Amino acid sequence: MTAPAGHAEQLWSRCAGCASLLYRKRLRRNLDVCPECGEHTRLGAPERLRQLVDPGSLRLLPDRLPEADPLDFVDVLPYPHRLSAARASTGLAEAVLCGTATIGGQPAALAVMDFRFLGGSLGCAVGELITRTAERALDDRVPLILVTASGGARMQEGALSLMQMATVSQAIAALREAGLLTVSVLTDPTYGGVAASFATNTDLVLAESGARMGFAGPRVIRQVTGRALPEGFQTADFLLRHGQVDMVVQRRSLRGRLAALLAAARAGRPARAPVPRQEPARHHERLAGAAPPVPPAEADGHRPVGERPADDGPTPAVRDAWDTVRTARHPGRPTTLDYLDSVFDGFVELHGDRLGGDCPAIVGGIARLAGRHVMVIGHQKGHTTADLVARNFGMASPAGHRKALRLMRLAARLGLPVVTLVDTPGADPGISAEEQGQAAAIAENILTLTVLPTPVLAVITGEGGSGGALALAVADRVLMLQHAVYSVISPEGCAAILWPDRSAAPQAARALRLTAPDLCRLGVVDEIVPEPATAAHDDPAETARRLRAALLANLLPLLDVPPAMLVRLRRQRFRRFGAPRAGARAGAR
Ligand SMILES: [Zn+2]
Repeated sequence: MTAPAGHAEQLWSRCAGCASLLYRKRLRRNLDVCPECGEHTRLGAPERLRQLVDPGSLRLLPDRLPEADPLDFVDVLPYPHRLSAARASTGLAEAVLCGTATIGGQPAALAVMDFRFLGGSLGCAVGELITRTAERALDDRVPLILVTASGGARMQEGALSLMQMATVSQAIAALREAGLLTVSVLTDPTYGGVAASFATNTDLVLAESGARMGFAGPRVIRQVTGRALPEGFQTADFLLRHGQVDMVVQRRSLRGRLAALLAAARAGRPARAPVPRQEPARHHERLAGAAPPVPPAEADGHRPVGERPADDGPTPAVRDAWDTVRTARHPGRPTTLDYLDSVFDGFVELHGDRLGGDCPAIVGGIARLAGRHVMVIGHQKGHTTADLVARNFGMASPAGHRKALRLMRLAARLGLPVVTLVDTPGADPGISAEEQGQAAAIAENILTLTVLPTPVLAVITGEGGSGGALALAVADRVLMLQHAVYSVISPEGCAAILWPDRSAAPQAARALRLTAPDLCRLGVVDEIVPEPATAAHDDPAETARRLRAALLANLLPLLDVPPAMLVRLRRQRFRRFGAPRAGARAGAR
């Protein structure tokens, strides 16, 4: 460089990731992400807001509060001096900048923290400003977005800063009660009291690529434990693997991702005040009428898919139950991710149980079905051995069931219908699954689904294995692909217990009545989705088309039903099993 050092400093900067010398304007054009190594440089709050919101849409909220030095705190400098210095160097009044704006046309309230201002620390003023922003979101009925960057609570304000964790959290709780989406975007670094409150108790937690988040900082943990920390400890990818965040997002994708989530949350709102649709009364009747266990032929001859299911394929009516079991397990059979690609649009996957794991055997997230936003949750198997192993053969861990639970509850809060796709041999029967409370995890999902105040539509797409299947299948309508199976135990397992040996699995399969026609007759399943000849794996595209038609035909009537009535009818649906038929009908009134 021939330029003087001071001049060069302004025009060039050195990347902290790869040490490349970068032309500043080029770096800014690239959203302050190093074009050489992808290192995400820290952003101040004004620049962050500029990158996120629609141009001209930002209205800043007041940022001046009465001066607060509640403890008359002095370390080597009096606290007011530190505040003045931070204000002078950043041009900000405090460590957070708040406003309302639109993102991709979707309105939201935003609070963006600035790490340059006393380490983004959470003091009374910061807590107050974020709380007011949350209250503004509640008044305006818009989602709240929090962009965090903080070392934690502000020491200079003592226990009063600790209290801000509760103050902001209760404002977030009010938004949760009101069904308004809250999103936190973790940026580097987010630690301590901020991490342990509003950075992670929002509906959704996005981590910017490379960001680190944790309760205790790495230096403290190293001191306390005396151990070296694993590579990538507390980084965004580490957090994703350990179920702490919904997704890791590159800075250039952040705006679009937020816009998509805001659009989904907004779409869910009208579900609470339904617009009149054609023939709502008839739909109610049909839903209520579907409750008693009537054979499909008696169910007003209704065939929403408009196909001739019984005529398709090699006489499926007489296909042997054991053949059906083998078809349901066929490695080429479409998986949940296949259907998310072929039946739905715009899938945004959400990860993690927020407790420590992200189970690969369950996938879930927000997607669109014929333009309507829905929450889709399903078991994921795979087509190759490597896929199957990576997905634990579709056998969910407790973390998987808890992820599903989190997404079901989120859907209900936002007024989004839930569609589940069931394809599992059963819940994970491993040691760690037991240690982590597999039984209770399944139990909680079943209970929650019985009272979830939003439409739930379940489809048994492959194997409906026992409690692991039911954990996703307590629904208003339960559909089943023609060659799927749904059973209390695998035929092999049943044969091993009740027959002399496992070779009796084919007999057990017949005895268990696990095929779609059998279960329709028993009232466990409401409708069969016909598969193309000879089965779904032969023509995945046609299978997807039929599934999509069946989903729409069953979901649209549910959207008209008030949530309280949905829950009542769902309870009736699951109240009648095993009761004498006449009693069941009386109970359904
Ligand atoms: Zn770099």
